[in-house]
Amino acid sequence: MPDPFNLEAHADAIDLVVGMLERTSHAVVLAGAGMSKESGIPTFRGEDGLWTKHGEPPLNQFETFASDPGRWWERRLEEGRNDSFSQSIEASQPNAGHVALAELETLGVVGHLITQNIDDLHRRAGQTSITEIHGNRYWLRCMTCEMRWPREEFPIEEDALPPTCTQCGGIVKSDTVMFGEPIPPTALRRCAEETAIADCFLTIGTSAVVYPAAQFPVDALRRGVPLIEINPEPTPLTEVATAVIPGPSGEVLPSIVERLRDRLGGGRTS
Ligand code: NAD
Repeated sequence: MPDPFNLEAHADAIDLVVGMLERTSHAVVLAGAGMSKESGIPTFRGEDGLWTKHGEPPLNQFETFASDPGRWWERRLEEGRNDSFSQSIEASQPNAGHVALAELETLGVVGHLITQNIDDLHRRAGQTSITEIHGNRYWLRCMTCEMRWPREEFPIEEDALPPTCTQCGGIVKSDTVMFGEPIPPTALRRCAEETAIADCFLTIGTSAVVYPAAQFPVDALRRGVPLIEINPEPTPLTEVATAVIPGPSGEVLPSIVERLRDRLGGGRTS
């Protein structure tokens, strides 16, 4: 068992970060699976990660879908999603880290969130300016025009599979980006646009090794934008980050917000 995180021992780093965020009005965040660990959803990599323990899954999911989307849908409707990872997401609630990050948006500090998570917890915590770069497991997406719908708002007829887009007739798939599937261009474009106007960049709970998502903090750094990392374990970005808080996001983010709220009062006036 690792030692519990001691917030007080990292008070100087937290103060440094609070000072940086006080001067920030359009921070962009790249969040990863670590943010949802305290909601009971396992990560893939890192200590206790699913892949660390069990190895990587087959990486040809998209090839399988694209070769016969109708068959894929038949299986999905027959079998549902009952694996332990899906069950942990179904049972999850936003944690204190999700709530604090949403408050950083309300305070006028965070301008946009790029999340690699598919679990919907950021939205449920109240985050509104968000790109789900790997999709959302509760949504569906047209492969042609990229229109997205909440799953329960899109009727799926079992005798007309695969479902097709109400706008353009394209094939509809689950919104989650499968292994081997390109990231939808609209999402990638938005991430690049937001990164280009970031005045601070935060990476939270991500191993920062999954591309193209991991490219955005690198692009921001190249422009001279300060980088803050929150992660109990080191990543390839740790050495180049301006500030690092090596603790769990569910403890670190509320502590940052509490101190920032005191300094900003009721939020920004401009
Ligand atoms: P990852 O699994 O590769 O890495 C997780 C990172 O979180 C590690 O660096 C780990 O040190 C860190 N971490 C662990 N506990 C933490 C905590 N309490 N607070 C902060 N950080 C913590 O995750 P990734 O970088 O997001 O990339 C993996 C891919 O897996 C993504 O594409 C994502 O779509 C998918 N994924 C999503 C979920 C989810 O939606 N909740 C869960 C697992 C994997």
